[in-house]
Amino acid sequence: METINTTLLIVGGGPGGYVAGIRAGQLGVPTVLVEGASPGGTCLNIGCIPSKALIHAAEEFCKARSYAAETSPLGISSSEPRIDLERTVAWKDGIVKKLTGGVGALLKKNGVKLVNGWATILDGKTVEVRPEGASEATVRIRCEHMLLASGSEAVELPFMPFGGRVISSTEALSPGEIPQRLVVVGAGYIGLELGTAYRKLGSQVTVVEAADRILPAYDADLVKPVAAALERLGVELRLATSVLGMDEEGTQVRVRDASGVEALLEADKVLVAVGRKPRTTGWGLENLMLDMNGRAVKVDDGCRTSMRNVWAIGDLTGEPMLAHRAMAQGEMVAEIVSGKRRHFAPAAIPAVCFTDPEIVVVGMSPQDADKAGIEIITASFPFSANGRAMTIESTDGFVRVVARKSDQRIVGWQAVGGAVSELAAGFTQSIELGAQLGDIGGTIHAHPTLGEAVQEAALRALGHALHI
Ligand code: FAD
Ligand code: NAD
Repeated sequence: METINTTLLIVGGGPGGYVAGIRAGQLGVPTVLVEGASPGGTCLNIGCIPSKALIHAAEEFCKARSYAAETSPLGISSSEPRIDLERTVAWKDGIVKKLTGGVGALLKKNGVKLVNGWATILDGKTVEVRPEGASEATVRIRCEHMLLASGSEAVELPFMPFGGRVISSTEALSPGEIPQRLVVVGAGYIGLELGTAYRKLGSQVTVVEAADRILPAYDADLVKPVAAALERLGVELRLATSVLGMDEEGTQVRVRDASGVEALLEADKVLVAVGRKPRTTGWGLENLMLDMNGRAVKVDDGCRTSMRNVWAIGDLTGEPMLAHRAMAQGEMVAEIVSGKRRHFAPAAIPAVCFTDPEIVVVGMSPQDADKAGIEIITASFPFSANGRAMTIESTDGFVRVVARKSDQRIVGWQAVGGAVSELAAGFTQSIELGAQLGDIGGTIHAHPTLGEAVQEAALRALGHALHI
């Protein structure tokens, strides 16, 4: 059996693992990365990127249909559009291919050896890799540092396993056809992002959510414009409702509402999106007997596990399961392994929900600050008073700032509205750089842009907003 010796061995080539590989390569650390599927992980292959591509395609189709309905206030009309789903999926796959190919090229450019195959951990310094092709021999890799970056997988409902009509986000991202009736279980990130996209592509969509509102992780004010938009789109919401399973024919979903009333929902497809769990089993991780934090691998602020020189990053280490967090942790671990002193203490990790309208959350909400006992000043500015929002027909929503009362230091931003995902960078920078309300209020923001609502929210918190 071939044995490879290296300094850093990375298991998993998702955003956590591949970024760690690139940075380690830049720093001259001999590195091997093992990936069983395709470089780029969940994010590039079956997550962030393909979902945003499908959301965009659905939005374009929906817009074209509104022109055909001759209801556009812009005065645009057209004939009824058609969608060639095979081409849509091929376009999405093309983006994925370009990006995953790019990851492979970046690893190569930085001298990282990519081993294709599934790693099984033998001990804290050794893995065995089973290559995909039967003709290739098993490889043993020995290392000084092992970085675990195996990511996460969709949670399956035991009484409604994936298969047949019951699908996960992976299948939902490569549809062969648009189901006439789609039932979505879970009104979280995936359920609402993809549920909205399918509605825009023409499905009748019913969302079943166990909590009494959609996106229960976000505060109620932020979610209101999204709930209103879903209603306008014709997405049916069944809140405070449990799914009980499929009926005997496997064509209807049995649900029960809070008052105990049961119903059957016809479904051509059922997208189950009730969360993701760290991928901790089936590859020998148990052999290391690492300390756990619930289902996730427990790490300190340097992403060290309970075993010396074994590190863990990304979804494997639990919430928030976001690609940019995984990347930041990966970059940090590579630097520590190379001898630099680093720790993971971001002032804020942005979260974006790509619904329509979009939601951005960075740092503390007013409720978080309350819970932490911090006295705050908070103010919001509505997009209905922002010129740019009017010109892009996107006046629902607002920007909200949260600042410490004692020194006006900004501790949080929230926004809901069309295209607000692009405000995330400025929000995060202002918190990371320790900006005060006056810094943002005193910065000239380009006109006409949505960013002016950011400046106005800060000015409003100071008591002198200009355009409201
Ligand atoms: P992953 O990306 O899961 O990568 C882990 C890799 O490890 C995989 O490629 C896997 O094949 C490999 N692997 C596992 N075990 C082994 C083994 N034993 N041997 C070899 N290889 C192994 N996050 C965002 O920030 N923004 C978004 O818009 C967003 N949208 C999403 C949409 C969907 C539909 C989904 C499902 C997720 C989305 N996420 C989003 C979450 C994001 O994809 C994850 O947070 C991110 O991919 C985690 O990165 P990771 O490196 O920890 O793991
Ligand atoms: P989620 O945690 O966002 O939402 C799951 C939802 O399902 C919750 O609202 C929960 O109350 C509900 N639920 C749980 N069990 C249920 C049941 N039995 N019946 C009905 N409802 C039930 O999970 P997700 O949407 O599957 O996404 C998984 C993770 O992927 C997210 O937490 C996030 O980390 C990541 N993700 C991020 C983005 C993004 O950043 N834009 C997009 C997609 C996914």
